[in-house]
Amino acid sequence: MTTTEKGPVYTGWQDLYREKWKWDAVYWGTHCVDCYPGNCPMRVYVRNGVVWREEQSGTVGSVEQGVPDWNPMGCMQGVSWSQSLYGPDRVMYPLKRAGERGEGKWNRISWDQALSEIADGIIDAIEEVGPSSIFHEGTPEVVTGVPTNRFLGTIGGFGTDVNGSINDFSIGLYETFGKFSLESSADDWFHSEIVLLWHMNAVYTRIPFYHFIAEARYNGAEVVNISPDINPTHLHADMQIPIRGASDAAFALSLAQVMFAENIAHWTFLKEQTDFTLLVRADTGRYLRQVDVDGEGREDQLYQWVEGTGLRPANRGDLRLHGANVALEGEFEVALADGTTVTVTPVYARLRRKLDADYTPEKQEAVTGVHPEVVRTLARKMTRKRSNIILGANACKLYHGDLVERAMCLALAASGNWGKKGAGIRMWSAGLHDGQGLALAKPGPGAANTEIILSARDGAIAMVKQLDPTMTTEMAVREMSRGPRGLLRRAGAALDRSGGKLTGSTAPPAFGWYWQAGYDKRWNVREWGDDTLPRTFDEYFNEALEKGWWAGADKPRPENPPRVLIECGGNMLRRTRGGKNALLPNLWPKLKLIVEIDWRMNETGLHADYFLPAAQHYEKVAFALPGAHVLNLTFSDKAVEPAGESKNEWEIYRVLLGKIAERAAARGIEEIRDERGNARRYDALVDEYTMKGYYNDPERLADEQVRDSALAGTLPPRTTLETFREKGHVRFTDWGLTPIALSQASPLKADETHAPFRDHVERGVPYPTYCRRAQFYIDHEWFLEAGEELPTHKPSPRMGGDYPLGMTGGHSRWSVHSMNHTNKVVLGTHRGEPTALVNLADAAARGVADGDLIRVFNDLGDFHVRARLAPSVRPGQIVSYNGWDGSQYRGWGGANEIEPGMVKWIGFAGGYGHLAYLAMDWQPVPVDRWIRCDFEKAAL
Ligand code: SF4
Repeated sequence: MTTTEKGPVYTGWQDLYREKWKWDAVYWGTHCVDCYPGNCPMRVYVRNGVVWREEQSGTVGSVEQGVPDWNPMGCMQGVSWSQSLYGPDRVMYPLKRAGERGEGKWNRISWDQALSEIADGIIDAIEEVGPSSIFHEGTPEVVTGVPTNRFLGTIGGFGTDVNGSINDFSIGLYETFGKFSLESSADDWFHSEIVLLWHMNAVYTRIPFYHFIAEARYNGAEVVNISPDINPTHLHADMQIPIRGASDAAFALSLAQVMFAENIAHWTFLKEQTDFTLLVRADTGRYLRQVDVDGEGREDQLYQWVEGTGLRPANRGDLRLHGANVALEGEFEVALADGTTVTVTPVYARLRRKLDADYTPEKQEAVTGVHPEVVRTLARKMTRKRSNIILGANACKLYHGDLVERAMCLALAASGNWGKKGAGIRMWSAGLHDGQGLALAKPGPGAANTEIILSARDGAIAMVKQLDPTMTTEMAVREMSRGPRGLLRRAGAALDRSGGKLTGSTAPPAFGWYWQAGYDKRWNVREWGDDTLPRTFDEYFNEALEKGWWAGADKPRPENPPRVLIECGGNMLRRTRGGKNALLPNLWPKLKLIVEIDWRMNETGLHADYFLPAAQHYEKVAFALPGAHVLNLTFSDKAVEPAGESKNEWEIYRVLLGKIAERAAARGIEEIRDERGNARRYDALVDEYTMKGYYNDPERLADEQVRDSALAGTLPPRTTLETFREKGHVRFTDWGLTPIALSQASPLKADETHAPFRDHVERGVPYPTYCRRAQFYIDHEWFLEAGEELPTHKPSPRMGGDYPLGMTGGHSRWSVHSMNHTNKVVLGTHRGEPTALVNLADAAARGVADGDLIRVFNDLGDFHVRARLAPSVRPGQIVSYNGWDGSQYRGWGGANEIEPGMVKWIGFAGGYGHLAYLAMDWQPVPVDRWIRCDFEKAAL
């Protein structure tokens, strides 16, 4: 464009193109939206005070010599985020409901009016029920979760456990290893010789990282895709194993059966790493325990049989056998303290009998449809090669997903495939940025106060280890972090500077669903659950309560109904399985105040009383959720001011607390008093939240958190917020001391890819399970009653009713959750509205053509969606990818209208070693795969 005295003159399209490449400033950015693992560093270009565009930075180099670099990192949502920033669904002013909840009528109001009225509602709830009647739904978005948790911790509310809501909790990994969050770095996939994409459609869901799989393949790896449908990932596979839906446990058990039967299993590995050598009583099916043998001592001291010398206590502190010839087979007689004798056998002997009886390749074929030679071929290869199950968060959403995952782990154990590069199984992890919590937990600002809290932490861990010298740091931290039943609550109290007063807490959402949201009726529909069980759901539920397995975490109880919901960084009505059908008629009437804090209108916001507009990415300082997958802390700077009147969440809560104090004073109320009689003054709330004003500015908090991570050793020394403004991302230097990060149990090296569990395998460090080994035999009374003491296959129940089709799902290719689906660039990458994939024969039988609107239905309800005819989908299957926005469906419906939100009863088990509540770990979780349904052509 040329400029004359009269101003700029348009000379052609080239002028506009050149204008695109002008900017005033460039910032670092990323997207903290649980696009896990995400962490893509972007460059954000600003012009005239608006974000002009963003692009991938391409700045994450190779970590290990010979392993490819990470670049470019990014996805289509990320490179069009600025479209969402200024999208039509952005809310920029506080709103108050004008009509009925959900009616969509709003009045724009001032911040002062909004916060005054919300403050009064919160005080009303505290006066009527208590502060625990105020809650929020847990969110994986740290940038919203940290301030929300701080706010609720300050007033005494609570949050629901995010992994209990979204169910990215791999219950079977947890049952086996005592932890679910093992995960290699993505570049470690390059070391794999067999990549098993199993319950993972990596082409859709791992866009920034898929290249490591392709590069492993160039490096000679075989890619095996195991799925009921021919999903897009199969295009890049060397071997496609089309398996019947939800039959994966039978397939995996058969892999193990072949490895054992052909004597190609890794015997030394599994003798050391697993519970196979532990002795089980023939009469009770329970482990042989010290209390049996000695009449006193440890309940969790178990035994092995050594050829030549006989019975010995299994070492709880060292997995290595040091040459001992420990039995895997045989029957042995043991004298008990009561004078009787009992026959015992190793776990392996029991397992082997079961596998040979039920899971030979020929027998599994009847269940899975997979040819026996395919099983044998893969089993033999796995025992010879570094095999890596790239597991997604899909198996865990099957009703019997825990059994599937336990069986997968068994196949890996038999083939010696974890604790080394290129091998293992993955889920998700977090932690590492320890300063995030330290900066908020310490008694005052600055490094000296950080040292106080670090010393207290180290002292508490040392105290815990004194109680049981065989405990590892990982175990000690886990026990310190558990709920009220935690062994080491007393030691953990050393870190609780409130003295156990009004601290915020986390609770599994399942109890609220049961007591407050009508799920009790659904979970007791016998045929929607495991109808082979001898007892009803309620009998198990009540037993768990009576035995106190969930004491303190079992809330909100009927006598303490919830009154205020603060939804920030989530969308409860869309996310909850069976959401609207259950929550609106049951939970919503109990809620006297619903506040949505978000940057865009969503389904829960539509049904709220107030909407408070929040700043978005690029409008505030934030960090992406870190984890072992990427191992960087990735920064997103404040590039522009928040749009309209929107505010940073940290600021919203700070001002709200001030308003609560102001309204309390006006009403003559001085204290918040909780159900236990503990009190906190209203006029101290803001000081508590901001550390006496030190954290008034959220950038100062971010800087302090970075500095504290450096002091804790997880970031390089002297790292500050300025370091991130310069570099955009920094690689972690250590795991820190959060349970979820310590799960990796491996060294973290600057110049090596990360593979978890090396400490267990290379140094014999025990696992945090009941038996201190990878535990395949769980002799908890419920597991024995259900026939699930060993991994087994069980068919998926008929959740939703007796219908011919099974609905599955997963992340779509086109979105990071529903928030992106109204982005016009993203809309342009697909048909522009939700679709469900159906098989051609199923469609023809119902007179449905491609693009027809269909009604998908079962006993719970229905939703309307366009049919996408796909020969790749198995007959009898319907695929409804998740992440669509409610507004894209007729009547704001969607797949969760037909999901009952079933929870496997065994998730309520407790009182058994690692089967005890820990935030984001052991708890009941909802399932939503293979929901029974049917469809028909719908009227337009
Ligand atoms: Fe990366 Fe997530 Fe951003 Fe996509 S949305 S570019 S995956 S950080």
